[in-house]
Amino acid sequence: MNILVINAGSSSIKYKMIEMERQEVLAKGSVERIGINGSVIAHTPAGRSKVTIEKTISNHKDAIQEVLLALTDSAHGIISGMDEISAVGHRVVHGAELFSDSVIIDDKVINAIKDCSELAPLHNPANLMGINACRSIMPNVPMVAVFDTAFHQTMKRHAYLYGLSYEAYTKYRVRRYGFHGTSHKYVANRYAQITGKDIEDLKIITCHLGNGSSLAAVNGGKSVDTTMGFTPLEGIVMGTRSGDIDPAIVPYLMEKMKMSLEEAINYLNKDCGVYGLSGVSSDFRDIQLAKKQGNERAAAALEVFCYRMRKFIGSYAAAMSGVDAIIFTAGIGENDHLIREWSLEGLEFLGARIDKAANDNIRGIEKRISSADSAVDIWCIPTDEELAIAKETYALCF
Ligand code: ADP
Repeated sequence: MNILVINAGSSSIKYKMIEMERQEVLAKGSVERIGINGSVIAHTPAGRSKVTIEKTISNHKDAIQEVLLALTDSAHGIISGMDEISAVGHRVVHGAELFSDSVIIDDKVINAIKDCSELAPLHNPANLMGINACRSIMPNVPMVAVFDTAFHQTMKRHAYLYGLSYEAYTKYRVRRYGFHGTSHKYVANRYAQITGKDIEDLKIITCHLGNGSSLAAVNGGKSVDTTMGFTPLEGIVMGTRSGDIDPAIVPYLMEKMKMSLEEAINYLNKDCGVYGLSGVSSDFRDIQLAKKQGNERAAAALEVFCYRMRKFIGSYAAAMSGVDAIIFTAGIGENDHLIREWSLEGLEFLGARIDKAANDNIRGIEKRISSADSAVDIWCIPTDEELAIAKETYALCF
């Protein structure tokens, strides 16, 4: 049985076809520059080389048609017809308080996703374009929406309310939602599975460190707190996002830097974080290299990042009255051993001790990296959001 996973953005669609019995990726790819000059489809069948097709693609429906053509192509396709797609799983960014789990998509769900669009104006409408395109081309194939926010809906009000007027929450839906939920849920459950432990008994801190980064406190398999908030701008310092700042900085800098509100939001999302601090790059590989070469700003950026990591790990251990496991995942979490090491420095008092030799030698594999005398289990677990979406889709449809 094959499940197609779709992640639709405003001008791009990423896809993966997953065979569920063996949980194997049959093909993956993307359509970029939809509705923009120079659209391109990149399709990679498993174990074979990438095929790139340049073609004018004016909308999401055409883009999905191209994905299906690539998947069924006689030369580089992996299925012989559309009837070999049993279901489609769609990534949807915002489900607000309307969705605490994945759902089978129907007209009611589409309207509810629309209703959440004001909370994620860049993402939800784009996700909907992908859903509508698939529904019109494959009307009889079941489709599921998997929300980035859903996993965090178990947070209690003490964790999700801001210290604003209560009306900001009741009238305008301003609260902590959290994101990366599919990934936090996946690695927390994967940890329980690998170690043969019952997730119900575990206090886990999951650290999803990629271009966007967030931590979550997962108690008994449920998210009880997370660092991203009303938007993915809150929390730890990220590649180009500021993370937590004093809100009064915004009007102050708007005046000093002569920025409009839109420019200020753009600045906080795109010009800050380790990129803004280092002046080098948002990519940790470049910043690590610059630090090695003596770049002080690069060193400062990494120090700020790791200090924030330590503070959040400590506060989540306090939030859960303990911690059994800390998990690192995503681009930085899976690959940067120095970030893992520095983020845990000084946390020995919590019982978290890293095994430097074990930590140094790994990249992108599932592995325990805590020392034998560590009371807290520390692991690297590569995330697999597409597989998680495919599994949720399978569970709901079959
Ligand atoms: P996204 O949030 O876009 O899914 P990823 O999880 O793929 O991002 O993470 C991308 C980031 O991971 C890069 O910007 C880079 O900072 C970091 N990264 C990837 N590989 C390495 C590596 N080998 N060493 C250090 N950092 C890495």
